[in-house]
Amino acid sequence: MRNYVVILVVMLLCSCKKEVGTDLKNRKLKVVATTSQVADLIKEVAGEYVDLERLMGAGVDPHLYKASEGDVAKFYNADVIFYSGLHLEGKLEDVFEKMRRQGKVTIAVSDAILKSDLISSADFASSFDPHFWFSIAYWKKTVVYVANQLSILDKKNALIYKTNAERYIEKLTRLELRNKVQLDELPKEKRILVTAHDAFAYFGKTYGFKVVSLQGLSTATEAGVQDVQRLSNFIIRHNVKAIFIESSVPVRTVEALQAAVNSKNHKVEIGGTLFSDALGNPNTKEGTYIGMYEFNMKTIINALK
Ligand SMILES: [Zn+2]
Repeated sequence: MRNYVVILVVMLLCSCKKEVGTDLKNRKLKVVATTSQVADLIKEVAGEYVDLERLMGAGVDPHLYKASEGDVAKFYNADVIFYSGLHLEGKLEDVFEKMRRQGKVTIAVSDAILKSDLISSADFASSFDPHFWFSIAYWKKTVVYVANQLSILDKKNALIYKTNAERYIEKLTRLELRNKVQLDELPKEKRILVTAHDAFAYFGKTYGFKVVSLQGLSTATEAGVQDVQRLSNFIIRHNVKAIFIESSVPVRTVEALQAAVNSKNHKVEIGGTLFSDALGNPNTKEGTYIGMYEFNMKTIINALK
């Protein structure tokens, strides 16, 4: 039995070291994507031309996500692993490193963005804010990057990846234009976004919002009583009308904040649930990047205007 295990491990190691694409004439490229945003990106660029496995579903927090045995098997079987990067998937970093040592191709889509363009953060493991997908301009860069990387791995479909990427970038440009028009409804002084954790700094930078949160860049640290007090005073001082839940973060922190504001004879509403680090359910509009962005924009404007 032990010999079988040894042989199996050796076979796995050997198959991983094999160059990607040598047998792609007769089959599709096998891709694993970690977050739902990255999976949606691969789907837009590659469509049915790759076999795509998505690791994290709706409502799953990538900061806290740990690889199961099944996930590790998916990594072994894949030709390439696409992930968000910048330590967003903090608890998967060791597994990625192990895969790389065994010759597996791993690609962080955040490598498409120049480090000097990212929002830096001394407190976060990567030294940068990892929630870059809320800049549509940056997301477009990842589309080009992913199309290029797929073309290198799977040359026969390179033209399809390039064409799909161009078409998708046009859709993203139309989304940017719609966002600008919609935001005219919301006066500048009302552009204050209060959420559970700091996922919206790139959104805030793009659309002129002041962004404030309870938990910082990662959800790994819980908010303390002092954080709740500090933020409840801020909400009262700035007369903030609504605060927001996130689909991938437990509601209790935002509810505690609402209770703290109410206890000081002020009223703040829960403005709805935003999609921050995960998209909505697959096969719904919010299960796509564009649908998620439209939903967030509508929810934020309706609650704050
Ligand atoms: Zn986050």
